[in-house]
Amino acid sequence: MPELPEVETIVRGLRRKAVGKRINRVTLLMSQILRCSDDDFVRTILGKTIKGIDRRGKFILIALSGGWSLLIHLKMTGQLKWIPQAQNHQKHTHVVFHLAQCPFQLHYCDIRRFGYLLLLKTDCMHDVPPLRDLGPEPLEMKEPEFVELLRNRKGRMKSLLLNQSFLAGLGNIYADESLWRARIHPLTQAHRISPRKARRLLGAIQAVLEEAIENKGSSVDDYRDVEGRKGKHQFCLRAYGRQGQACYYCGALIRRIVINSRSSHFCPRCQRKPG
Ligand SMILES: [Zn+2]
Repeated sequence: MPELPEVETIVRGLRRKAVGKRINRVTLLMSQILRCSDDDFVRTILGKTIKGIDRRGKFILIALSGGWSLLIHLKMTGQLKWIPQAQNHQKHTHVVFHLAQCPFQLHYCDIRRFGYLLLLKTDCMHDVPPLRDLGPEPLEMKEPEFVELLRNRKGRMKSLLLNQSFLAGLGNIYADESLWRARIHPLTQAHRISPRKARRLLGAIQAVLEEAIENKGSSVDDYRDVEGRKGKHQFCLRAYGRQGQACYYCGALIRRIVINSRSSHFCPRCQRKPG
């Protein structure tokens, strides 16, 4: 699933290409991924100009003229593709945005179809679900704020980091990477994290995310940027997917366990099991 660095890479790529373009036609090939009727979708979006493209958590926010925003969540396998007009749409393409005076089109593709597109009024979109329910952005967070956020929180650290209402944007890859770097066992109870460890964890989260953005995301499965290019951060992972391989820090073998039906990768020596 694309996480914060992958979505940020897509947003940056698309922003350079699509802002200022006007949507003059929409082809809906599979409309179950919309959260409204086909007619409402097409009527709202037709003729609108793309004013800006941003990210919130794992959501792509496309601001349109007329006070509307298009929210896209890629979920497991969603992809946005910037494709030359002459090229036919591929299998699993569900929406094609045709742009005025532009030799390219924007395609929304999704093999497993868990992703969705949602239209909201821009002025109130942060006050209603799903954006309202998101926790803070990890890259904008300050240490005292994070220490406070962790105080009295219940649950295990790994599950908490995956909880989008706690912190927006982390998924399985970067939660494992951050815990490895902070040397915190994934099963540690959140309330047992000292302020010192909390600060270390925030530093680890921010460093991991920034490096992954720099590397344009991790293509461990089918993630690609808008031009179809793979990211490079899969070559820099230290814990995720490395079970049975030596820890880069201490040489012990990375282990994999399952927590709430999600796999967790950690070093049993660097990340000591709590109590
Ligand atoms: Zn280690």
